[in-house]
Amino acid sequence: MATEEIIQKAEALRKEIRYHSYRYYVLDQPEITDYEFDKLYRSLVDLETKYPDIVTNDSPTQRVGGKASNDFQKVKFKKPMLSLANAFSGDELKAFDARIRAGLADKYEYITELKIDGLSMNLIYENGRLLQGLTRGDGRVGEDVTANVKTIKSIPLFIENAPPYMEVRGEVYMPRKSFIALNEKRDEAGVMPFANCRNAAAGSLRQLDPHVTAARHLDFFAYALGEAEGLDIHTQEELLKQLQRFHFRVNPNYKKCASIDEVIEEVGRWEDKRKSLGYDTDGMVIKVNDFEQQNKLGATVKDPKWAMAYKYPPEEAITQIKKIIVTMGRTGVLTPSADVTPVPLAGTIVKRATLHNIDFIHEKDIREGDFVTIYKAGEIIPEIAGVLKDRRSGAEKEFEMPKTCPVCGETVSRPEGEAAVRCTNARCGGILRQKLIHFASRDAMNIDGLGPAIVDGLLAYNLINDPADLYDLKEDDIRQMERMGEKSAGNIVKAIADSKERGLAKLLFALGIRFLGAKGADILATRFHTMENIMMADIQHIQSVDGMGDVIAHSVVEYFQDEKNKQMISRLKGHGVVMHELKEEIEGDAFLNEIVVLTGKLTSMGRHEASEIIKKNGGTTQSSITKTTTLVIAGEDAGSKLEKARAKGITVIDEADFLKRIGR
Ligand SMILES: [Zn+2]
Repeated sequence: MATEEIIQKAEALRKEIRYHSYRYYVLDQPEITDYEFDKLYRSLVDLETKYPDIVTNDSPTQRVGGKASNDFQKVKFKKPMLSLANAFSGDELKAFDARIRAGLADKYEYITELKIDGLSMNLIYENGRLLQGLTRGDGRVGEDVTANVKTIKSIPLFIENAPPYMEVRGEVYMPRKSFIALNEKRDEAGVMPFANCRNAAAGSLRQLDPHVTAARHLDFFAYALGEAEGLDIHTQEELLKQLQRFHFRVNPNYKKCASIDEVIEEVGRWEDKRKSLGYDTDGMVIKVNDFEQQNKLGATVKDPKWAMAYKYPPEEAITQIKKIIVTMGRTGVLTPSADVTPVPLAGTIVKRATLHNIDFIHEKDIREGDFVTIYKAGEIIPEIAGVLKDRRSGAEKEFEMPKTCPVCGETVSRPEGEAAVRCTNARCGGILRQKLIHFASRDAMNIDGLGPAIVDGLLAYNLINDPADLYDLKEDDIRQMERMGEKSAGNIVKAIADSKERGLAKLLFALGIRFLGAKGADILATRFHTMENIMMADIQHIQSVDGMGDVIAHSVVEYFQDEKNKQMISRLKGHGVVMHELKEEIEGDAFLNEIVVLTGKLTSMGRHEASEIIKKNGGTTQSSITKTTTLVIAGEDAGSKLEKARAKGITVIDEADFLKRIGR
């Protein structure tokens, strides 16, 4: 049982973690390093693991984990979430102002706020604790997405000095960076990409598994109150400041305006400026600042009379598709894109638009020669919004994906259920080219000077067949290539040799294993320490590591089952490429491939030290017994976990056995 002292210690840790999360996720002004933060977080996890009864719902450790309700239960709002009327021009704003002036006898002010292109959200707090997160739904009845909302780190789970009941409203959105990364992954996996940040945010909030939502990196801006008790706030400006005091993120780009002319000026000022923000905005919200005046003006059935949403014209341009071309990605995915007649759009000249995959082309009936509307979704390659079919001349050509690979000529395949067409020829030059460029890239083996041009040269001269061949290259091999000076040949050979020391995480990422990104590679390297350990691990073992999903686990195991890959790794090893993680010293293999749960109190060392030892000896630790657990180490006073382990027939050893295994 946890003593009062332990409960207080946990509460103090939570408070500290809450504060530093706020500094990091809301203010973007961290006071401590990530390492220090992880240490704090870890101590709370350890304490809560030891005393599961002290875990509270609002503990920072509980952001991911709860289950989303299967059907996203419908909940009626206490106060409806009204939509806003739209304005598309300065004249419409002036007409809005005339109505306000007619409705109010006294002086009034406006507040302008950027309109974030995401999903409206109603967060219910009781005594400061986040109770429920509801989507807007139809404005009267929303959907309960609490488990997913909790994964958004800038949303407080607990608010100090909060009123007994309060509903905070705002916008859940996906930052452009997350959106681009997500769509790249989807393209690579052959899944339909999201059309825009808003759709991506909506899709992410409606996940049944909060882990998926957490990985999507959503964020939140607060801007309004729903039903609330005991708050004495009189204006929108005061409200925004109060929300900041409650530690919500509030978009800083709001402005108080004395007249509608000032509002119109502000709207114009942001028309271009907003494009450089890290998130999508589609307009500006204009509100009468004073709450009493808002009440006086009231609402129609549909929308409040005291507010207006000004919508910016969408960033679109019309152009013609000259040709549909097919390019190849690292894993052999063939991606169609459209070469278009150059046209200015959102500050750049656009020459190419992405077509994603053949399903996308069919769905929109896109043909070579078509006039199309293009737009920018995030700061990426423009998308095609639609085809102007009335401008067709009859000369347009329908497009089909090639049946053979444009690089190697082998037959391509389209796996069941995927939208992507792939070249699966392991010796395909196109795949090899992308693989080599990736292998040498900065986040992978970081081979300075080995860019696409040199890779093309090496391939043209038939000097390499896989990444391991790089380490066989001599200066003379490279020098024979056209326009290669003596100096650069020497530099490249040296850079290749230097790259042997990058360590396991970089190497794993460099191999280009499907679905395994830089972060995943880092996690694997930290947990398994050596290439050998990873090559021996089975799917269950990899899955049991935090941050490794089912898909990655399958892909990693599949990669290392392939004879060719095994041979290449052994050749890399032969060349002296470092095959272990550099961050931590490996001491032995006493717990190789074991998934260990520690329970009870060890007399010779702390729990943290014990798990470090297990990791350094090839094992992984878990906080609770699951179907993947292979070993339980039981210290003094081991309680329910010990019983559970025995009931499940899991091997249990005591402290003496543990010490014996590690040779102490
Ligand atoms: Zn090919």
